[in-house]
Amino acid sequence: MENTIEQMIQRAEEELKGAFSELEAIEEKRTRQVLDVFREHQVSYRHFAPTTGYGYDDVGRDTLEEIYADIFHTEAALMRPHIASGTAALSLTLFGLTKPGERILSATGLPYDTLLGIIGTEEDTPPGSLKEMGVGFDCVELTPEGKIDLDAVERAMTPQTSLVIAQRSRGYAWRPSLMPEAFEPLTRLIHEKFPGVRVMVDNCYGEFVREKEPTDFGADVCVGSLIKNPGGGIAPTGGYIVGKKDAVDRVAYRLTAPGLGRELGSYAGDYRPWYQGLFMAPHTVCQAIKTALLASRLFENLGLKASPASTESRADIIQAIQMQTPERLVAFCQGIQMASPIDSMALPEPWDMPGYEDQVVMAAGTFVAGASIELSCDGPMRAPYTAYMQGGLTYTHGRIALAEALRRMVDSGAI
Ligand SMILES: *Cc1c(COP(=O)(O)O)cnc(C)c1O
Repeated sequence: MENTIEQMIQRAEEELKGAFSELEAIEEKRTRQVLDVFREHQVSYRHFAPTTGYGYDDVGRDTLEEIYADIFHTEAALMRPHIASGTAALSLTLFGLTKPGERILSATGLPYDTLLGIIGTEEDTPPGSLKEMGVGFDCVELTPEGKIDLDAVERAMTPQTSLVIAQRSRGYAWRPSLMPEAFEPLTRLIHEKFPGVRVMVDNCYGEFVREKEPTDFGADVCVGSLIKNPGGGIAPTGGYIVGKKDAVDRVAYRLTAPGLGRELGSYAGDYRPWYQGLFMAPHTVCQAIKTALLASRLFENLGLKASPASTESRADIIQAIQMQTPERLVAFCQGIQMASPIDSMALPEPWDMPGYEDQVVMAAGTFVAGASIELSCDGPMRAPYTAYMQGGLTYTHGRIALAEALRRMVDSGAI
């Protein structure tokens, strides 16, 4: 068995050689970009120093935000350890950029599960949601080919619509993730025909995957999590918002206080992990995508459906694989968990997770709790039992973990 699995992996790697070198070329370009920005800002030890109290003139924080703005080619950035998660960053942004009576339009179908509580849906209207605050929500599906439906977006715009949101990553949906350039027709339409309306892209899982980012294609604001791609596997927590200065300022007023915004906020730890994480991010993301590619090819060779397919270009680090049976999905997640550096003794089982609609089975044996730039895997317990796998700090670990997951699936009789 062991030999067969190793042979399968070697065959897949042989088939993926070309794709791997394309990814390494992107890694080098983005590493060069990060390095150039670090040099421009003359980053040195003083930028790592902790601060206390109000945190006025916190040079580590301010420089990090300038660096984020430069990397995303935007006027401003808000990048804070105090932003609890990607969802928290998105929540700040949605509240910061809307007023009572206005409406948000999603141009990429229903957003990621955890956003539904922020927006407030029929089933789920937690106290303090946008719905309760008088902000409405509309939604346009992607075309059957997975593209943004510009005509439908234009028709769905109302005089009250002040914010158009779009999601780069597939989240828990079987649809292609969107390339940064895929947002250009949307941002052009909105800016030309609806002046004053902003476009926000949920950039979670997309950073450093391609040479450019959605802000290079007209997005007014991009939002993401620091325990995903841009944290490089080193940042311990946080979120970021980059974009036009007036938009970022409004979001910062939500985080601290109107009028104070980014001026405020100390951090008694040190900022090194965010600097170092950003430096590592192009490499770590490359390792994660190589792991995802290997998984897609391995399971395709076994006759299962992978999205993206191993031959497709990637817009994010997520790999979806239709496992077809609940047994396979659970065994795969268990195998990934057993091959994790942390909590390898835990055996994942499906459970009800706050913010998610179906039961979810999850594997996450990560150094930073819940960090999905580290090798992790989850799947909602609904047909066709799709495993959503992402992350991997090193390709070597990804390779070992996939071998162990396959062995677990065979041992448990799932394949
Ligand atoms: C992960 C993710 C979020 C939410 O981020 P958390 O850090 O898990 O709160 C939102 N949108 C997308 C597309 C994501 O992948």
